[in-house]
Amino acid sequence: MKKLLIIGFMLFSYIYSSGQVQQKAPTPPPIPSGPELMKPEMTEIWYPEVKIIQPGATNRDAPSDAIVLFDGTDINKEWIGMDGKPSIWTIKDGALISTKGSGYIKSKRVFSDFQLHIEWKTPSEVSGFSQGRGNSGVFLQELYEVQVLDSYDNRTYRNGQAGAMYKQYAPLVNVCRKPGEWQTYDIIYTAPRFSKDSLTYFTPPRVTVIQNGVLVQNNVSLRGPTQYIGMPEYTIKKHGPLSILLQDHGNPVAYRNIWIRDL
Ligand code: MG
Repeated sequence: MKKLLIIGFMLFSYIYSSGQVQQKAPTPPPIPSGPELMKPEMTEIWYPEVKIIQPGATNRDAPSDAIVLFDGTDINKEWIGMDGKPSIWTIKDGALISTKGSGYIKSKRVFSDFQLHIEWKTPSEVSGFSQGRGNSGVFLQELYEVQVLDSYDNRTYRNGQAGAMYKQYAPLVNVCRKPGEWQTYDIIYTAPRFSKDSLTYFTPPRVTVIQNGVLVQNNVSLRGPTQYIGMPEYTIKKHGPLSILLQDHGNPVAYRNIWIRDL
């Protein structure tokens, strides 16, 4: 009897393992999920078509949608003195030159968000040191200075050298050319947005600066208008679109090929 039971158990085990009893469960169909329901064309945006503009002959040249602020000829077309009178900066060899006591000049047009290209040159004849050598500046919306300085072999405080957002951010690197050589700034500026019910920034101004093709300010958030003495204030007067200013700091710094694009 015991033998019969053993044989029966072995027979059952054989049938079970041979698949007559155990059956594999069928593979379920795949469950559709979000991305699998999507088709490529569902995320393609065709309209409106991106505006077509013509690039400049080189990356230094103004593209077709730029406003040329100085082309080497007439300063009075786009610039004016801070007192509202015609500028007394001089033009020599197609360059606009600040002279001692000539005062700041400002663009007649005002801007909010923009891309600005400007070329500058400090005197080849080196004189002075630190902040006294080839000092000028490009003020964005009249309030925020991108420093212009002869920073080639000329130590000064790091947040005051060429490429600095003056007294706020040092440049990431010193990529200055020698005195007397032309240098470029390509500046991308996002104007501040202000809170409705206070004088504080909702979003502060942001600046990116590329000097001679090299990134020196990477989308930095400014803490307030440029201050020579004291901390930049967090609370300032609200402002809308404003001019570009070029600084007369008593040194004959030259500018040329200035163009800007509204963003
Ligand atoms: Mg300056």
